[in-house]
Amino acid sequence: MPKQEVGSTKWLGNKMKAKGLQKLRWYCQMCQKQCRDENGFKCHRMSDGHQRQMQLFVQDPNRFMDEFSQA
Ligand SMILES: [Zn+2]
Repeated sequence: MPKQEVGSTKWLGNKMKAKGLQKLRWYCQMCQKQCRDENGFKCHRMSDGHQRQMQLFVQDPNRFMDEFSQA
């Protein structure tokens, strides 16, 4: 296996994975769902499940706000 170049995209990706930074980046707090990348996050926001969460949020925002502030 070829050695990874320090500073390369791949190296950075592995570093981010190790640090868990990726976890926060594409996280949908509304659904408490973690997406793999920007594209996954976009797809998720278009999904039925997310739309349903949005409907619930609109109907009862206070409940969600309480949950968010506890997190
Ligand atoms: Zn969502």
